Amino acid sequence: MKAIVSHGVKDFRLEERALPDVGDHDVLVEVEYCGFCGTDVHMYHGTWKLNIGCTPGHEVSGIIREIGSKVKSVAPGDPVAVDPGITCGVCAYCQSSQPNLCVDRIGMYHYKGGGFAAYTCVPESQVYCLKEGTPLECGAFLEPASCCVHAADRADIKPGQTVAVLGGGAIGLMLMQLSVLSGATKVVVSEPQSIRRQLAIQLGAEQVIDPGQQNPVEEIKDITNGGVDVVFESAGIPVTVSQCFEVVKPGGKIILVGVNDPATRVEFSPYQVFRNELSVLGSLLSHDTYPRTLELISTETLKVQPLISHRLNLSKFHDALKMHEQQKGIKILISPKDK
Ligand SMILES: [Zn+2]
Ligand SMILES: [Zn+2]
Repeated sequence: MKAIVSHGVKDFRLEERALPDVGDHDVLVEVEYCGFCGTDVHMYHGTWKLNIGCTPGHEVSGIIREIGSKVKSVAPGDPVAVDPGITCGVCAYCQSSQPNLCVDRIGMYHYKGGGFAAYTCVPESQVYCLKEGTPLECGAFLEPASCCVHAADRADIKPGQTVAVLGGGAIGLMLMQLSVLSGATKVVVSEPQSIRRQLAIQLGAEQVIDPGQQNPVEEIKDITNGGVDVVFESAGIPVTVSQCFEVVKPGGKIILVGVNDPATRVEFSPYQVFRNELSVLGSLLSHDTYPRTLELISTETLKVQPLISHRLNLSKFHDALKMHEQQKGIKILISPKDK
């Protein structure tokens, strides 16, 4: 089968590979779509670990083609989306309902290979059957959308509150929608790309800001009468992390969702956090949000299809990488099939 394989930092190649072998508890999924994500760019540059010889890709939908001898809950032919985080089930975090913090968690790419391939193979416990009528291209959003639902849970938005989203890529645009769904009355998105800003308005943002032309801190304070109850950082860069501390109002929450370079350091005032009783929360992956997210996607309560800007063949993987780095488009889906 065709697969993207890591040969080291900045050296990913499209190669012919053997099909993964299907263990007793595994399912073989014929990949229909795999979403391109910021984490894949981090892996390419070596700021997020991907072992040599492994295939990246973790936002997968497809059809089950083969099941292991002990698999009971799914069958060949089932359309599924994949939870790529495989946890140990026995560490203190797994046993306290926090499997996203599992000390031995591995991504599916370190199991039997990720989704930038014709086939992938994961344990039965990692797949969710798509509801009838849910397009497979929407299924590829299950993982990133589940992370956003977890972030919304962390934010615990109350009806009538105000929210800012700094970074309007696919994650930011889902966080924006979830904020509206949670009852926020003013949701402001700051995003430099105009097509993303337009989409933010179409999908329910009250107002958008172009940080290239406007001062996002002043604008957000202006629009929300002095600051927001909740600010999501979804760009994963130091400048927007700093802005969070400036736009949040006393008593408010900062939720860090974007993946910063692990070496990044940002200054903040401990006095401000103390004096204003700020909450600064990280949001890593998800744990109990997959079933709810499946429901949100299949009912189109959370709209993911408008976020798809490109559908590219696996052979165009490096084009997708470049486009993502240049922040072109919104969500790029890769398919091993001609679309
Ligand atoms: Zn992702
Ligand atoms: Zn664990």
